[in-house]
Amino acid sequence: RAHLDRISAVDGDVHAFLHVSDHAVAVAEDIDRRRAAGEELGPLAGVPLAIKDVLVTTDMPSTSGSKILEGYMSPYDATVVARSRAAGLVPLGKTNMDEFAMGSSTEHSAYGPTRNPWDLDRIPGGSGGGSAAAVAAFEAPLALGSDTGGSIRQPAHVTGTVGVKPTYGGVSRYGAIALASSLDQVGPVTRTVLDAGLLHDVIGGHDPNDSTSLTDTWPSFADAARDGARGDVLRGLKVGVIKELPDSGFQAGVSASFRASLAAMEAQGAEIVEISAPHFEYGVAAYYLILPAEASSNLAKFDSVRFGLRVTPPGGATVEEVMAATREAGFGDEVKRRIILGTYALSAGYYDAYYGSAQKVRTLIQQDFATAFAAVDVIATPSAPTTAFRIGEKIDDPLQMYLNDVTTIPANLAGVPGISIPSGLAEEDSLPVGIQFLAPVREDARLYRVGAALE
Ligand code: GLN
Repeated sequence: RAHLDRISAVDGDVHAFLHVSDHAVAVAEDIDRRRAAGEELGPLAGVPLAIKDVLVTTDMPSTSGSKILEGYMSPYDATVVARSRAAGLVPLGKTNMDEFAMGSSTEHSAYGPTRNPWDLDRIPGGSGGGSAAAVAAFEAPLALGSDTGGSIRQPAHVTGTVGVKPTYGGVSRYGAIALASSLDQVGPVTRTVLDAGLLHDVIGGHDPNDSTSLTDTWPSFADAARDGARGDVLRGLKVGVIKELPDSGFQAGVSASFRASLAAMEAQGAEIVEISAPHFEYGVAAYYLILPAEASSNLAKFDSVRFGLRVTPPGGATVEEVMAATREAGFGDEVKRRIILGTYALSAGYYDAYYGSAQKVRTLIQQDFATAFAAVDVIATPSAPTTAFRIGEKIDDPLQMYLNDVTTIPANLAGVPGISIPSGLAEEDSLPVGIQFLAPVREDARLYRVGAALE
């Protein structure tokens, strides 16, 4: 009830939610009854949870921020939602996002932007700005997001929250409306590293409904966070800092906060090691071919027949005309831009030049990570180049928007896990800054240990 009251009080300004559950209190009361009856419930039973609208739910609409899915009700729950319900978490509502998770500011939502609770004139990051803003504004203690090129970590960075992109395959994508299937991962958005670990423990692990789900048995990430909080895990830890990361694109306060965090780690016994990752700078270019290619294929299912919106032009029309009119009305500009880019990159004659080259760059970035992780335990970067920018500032300049992802994208291209934790406020604008840690594939627990030690 406290969270619902908070939503009533502030969400008119913040607009983190697209839908607020009308039965959250009933679900919470049921959990109370089960607890009173002596049932053993997990550590998160009764805790409210905000859910990014990219994740399908049977009891609330799932739109992925798009008009083409306005009012869409899914016949099944995403695996992460089903697992959250089974653990007694109480879904509070669905959070706003850039349409089909394409964006870094939540301004591309078909339902209007979310505002950053730190400064309502600024963006909360994207695509999962709604989840991050809900957590930052105390409308929800925990949230679920999805991260294809940074959509959990960059919103965490600009809202002073914690965001985790798990190892690819560590968390089920079943019921996560696909953006780019080889890059998408679902993960937690929270206020502390321990909270993220607790939620990751609930949603993670093998799911036979996701063909790319790993069959690993994972350690408890909450235990890893507790371990880190006890201290001394930084002693002897080798932290890689990428020498090619261009200093120029980074806001002064972001760089200063990053250096201060490194100094704090050094003071606790960590060793800062300069590493080379020469192909990172090509990550954005490769990503913005691979992602549109996969997205154009994934979005082909929105054909006016199988899901959501159908627009019939007046006077009768062919199937193609209905499909075209529906997509014209149902998709926003950014989605259309990427579909056009993706279908072009995949077309005969261009495939090798664009998609093929991008896949080769992807392999080179994976090799950069392999070389780096032979020498260091984790890699550290600022989570994003700048603090929250103003609403409207980059909306007409897609390239500027894309460049915001320079630090987050390589992890998705390589499948490695990443965490963003708050590292203080930038001196020049007093806005939150995050530090990102990356670890080798399957070493998510290391991120929780390091993150909690630094928190
Ligand atoms: N900002 C990136 C993009 O626009 C990241 C998206 C994401 O992670 N869903 O593609």
